[in-house]
Amino acid sequence: MSEIEQLRGRVARACRVLARLDLTKAAAGHVSARIPGSKNILIRARGPGELGVRYTEEDQIVEVGLDGNLSRKNDAGLNSPIEVFIHTEIYRTRPEVHAVIHIHPPTVVLFTVCKKPLLPLYGAFDPASLQLVLDGIPTYDRSILIDSPQLGQDVARAMGGARVCLMRGHGITAAAPSIEEAALAAIGINEVATMNYHAQLLGDPMPISREDQEHFRGLERAPVSKDGGPPSGRPGALWRYYCAYTDAG
Ligand SMILES: [Zn+2]
Repeated sequence: MSEIEQLRGRVARACRVLARLDLTKAAAGHVSARIPGSKNILIRARGPGELGVRYTEEDQIVEVGLDGNLSRKNDAGLNSPIEVFIHTEIYRTRPEVHAVIHIHPPTVVLFTVCKKPLLPLYGAFDPASLQLVLDGIPTYDRSILIDSPQLGQDVARAMGGARVCLMRGHGITAAAPSIEEAALAAIGINEVATMNYHAQLLGDPMPISREDQEHFRGLERAPVSKDGGPPSGRPGALWRYYCAYTDAG
């Protein structure tokens, strides 16, 4: 299997995992990855016969340039998604990013529309997702479709160097050195939001102590993957778990 075919398979698998975890529904959402040695990216396409993100197969992944246009026409009528500019403008401004994910997870979106911040409620329960909160999660404040390079730049600017950005009344964008790490960040922020949501229902959620927040802030992070390759170690194992759990291949 060629390198680009493998990459296509990883993009499609990440789509299936995220949608089977109910982090997005129907056709809303896309995963993309940089093609090594090229200025182009691979991204989940929109097309006439599509069933939705959870049913994404390799042949629904198209190659597009950083202008958002298909690098070549296809017979299946596939096209780049309207919000391709979220991806292209992040790739333009962040060379360390090899993968971008945009999805609409309902529980996370609730926290963009209510005056409830995502609090650092737990520690050893799930240190990696806690660290997303401790690192700070920016919000892009508009709720419109990101259908132009200008709006894509606005999202990239709001996101800065963060791994996850909330989009008010819309969804999230995650960016990372690999597809799998971006997907784990998306799963992680959903975990944070789910715990915050249930804690708010139960009442009086309490952030962990400052001392414990400092402990987790200083905890050694998993090494990031190189050149867009799949992560090893803890993130690699966690990704294998989610692939098996969702039967995503
Ligand atoms: Zn969207």
